[in-house]
Amino acid sequence: MIHSEHQRRAYLGALGIDVWLPRDQTDPEPAVRPAPTAGDGLDWESLRAAVASCTACALCQSRTQTVFGVGNPDADWMIIGEAPGAEEDRRGEPFVGRAGKLLDEMLRAVGQGRDSAFIANILKCRPPNNRDPKPEESAACRAYLEQQIELVRPRIILAVGRIAAQLLLGTDAPVGRLRGTVHRLGATPLIVTYHPAYLLRSPGQKRKAWDDLCLASRVIAGAVV
Ligand code: URA
Repeated sequence: MIHSEHQRRAYLGALGIDVWLPRDQTDPEPAVRPAPTAGDGLDWESLRAAVASCTACALCQSRTQTVFGVGNPDADWMIIGEAPGAEEDRRGEPFVGRAGKLLDEMLRAVGQGRDSAFIANILKCRPPNNRDPKPEESAACRAYLEQQIELVRPRIILAVGRIAAQLLLGTDAPVGRLRGTVHRLGATPLIVTYHPAYLLRSPGQKRKAWDDLCLASRVIAGAVV
């Protein structure tokens, strides 16, 4: 559903469709324009274009580029983190810094990789100084992630870290309480685990992250519902 004239124009603009208006009807554009709404049925190409040109929140003013997500569009595993950091903002790819290397290792341990899983973030733009996402930023970006989930249709979602887990599940419970249980995002099972950046600081918790990956594998195998 398109909510406003501005949103309709943002949406059409993102799809590369010119919108012509009589000169006396050109009203001033707001500083930020809302993102398309999930369920608009964007395909990958349109969604990618909508994200790349997004001005739905103020982060569009400080980003180097948007970070859409990478991987297999038909992945069984979808990994969702918080937001791009400095390296991701520079390279336009999620989880490419030190934490990303550890995430790669974790995925490899369960037979997955960047080409077989799909990796995305709650936010497609880097918050300055890696601060936590503001509620209006995650709300503005939510439709993009929901559309990605709809397109991938993963068999399991792995939420990495507190921010991703809390925002996806709509809770303020800590990761320690959310992990170890099979949650659901709509029909999709969702497992919570520690953020690899946290695991780099607290390697003693890697064992628990391994348990989380094993739980996710068992869900995919149908051994846990
Ligand atoms: N941390 C995240 O949550 N996502 C990234 O892409 C990089 C670091």
